Amino acid sequence: MRLVLVGPPGAGKGTQAQFLAEHFSIPHISTGDIFRANLKAGTDLGKQAQTFMDRGELVPDSVTNEMVKDRLTHDDVANGFILDGFPRNVAQAEVLRAILAEKKTPLQAVLEFSAPDTEIIARLLQRAEIEKRVDDQEDVIKRRLEVYAEQTAPIISFYRNEGLLISVSAVGDIKDITASAISALSRVAQ
Ligand code: AMP
Repeated sequence: MRLVLVGPPGAGKGTQAQFLAEHFSIPHISTGDIFRANLKAGTDLGKQAQTFMDRGELVPDSVTNEMVKDRLTHDDVANGFILDGFPRNVAQAEVLRAILAEKKTPLQAVLEFSAPDTEIIARLLQRAEIEKRVDDQEDVIKRRLEVYAEQTAPIISFYRNEGLLISVSAVGDIKDITASAISALSRVAQ
């Protein structure tokens, strides 16, 4: 299963990705997690990403695309992967399509998790209390939502046109959301 998860920050992509990764026995690749790990380890990549992440902006495509390209050469993606947080704009979606076309392993589905803005903001503020992420402060949250609407949301029509889009409501019980996602994905060719 080669899968991309899309949805606004706070839609629960990370949580659902973990359950889906376990269900399909494939790796969960979160670009946000990779950036945060690099930041913590003080690598050059982490330093390059930090200013953008702190402001809620996208890290430049040149940096992000190279990182994903490299990650997709690892052996553990042989049976598939779940990409969470990538692509974040149409240019990244085009790069991903090219990387996968070269390997003759195209995407099989793009799962969109949708939730109303009020619910998203409440969840992000709650997460800020628990995880203390720098980018979960109110002004940065606002910017991340704008960036999502302006730059990321257009990939939804990109993938709809490719016939890959499956939408699932991200509101309700976590287990029920996972079950609807798995049921929707069971209709996708494996
Ligand atoms: P996330 O954990 O997915 O919300 O990502 C946290 C932050 O990492 C984002 O606000 C961006 O600054 C950066 N980031 C993660 N994925 C990408 C991406 N595909 N393109 C650019 N920046 C990204």
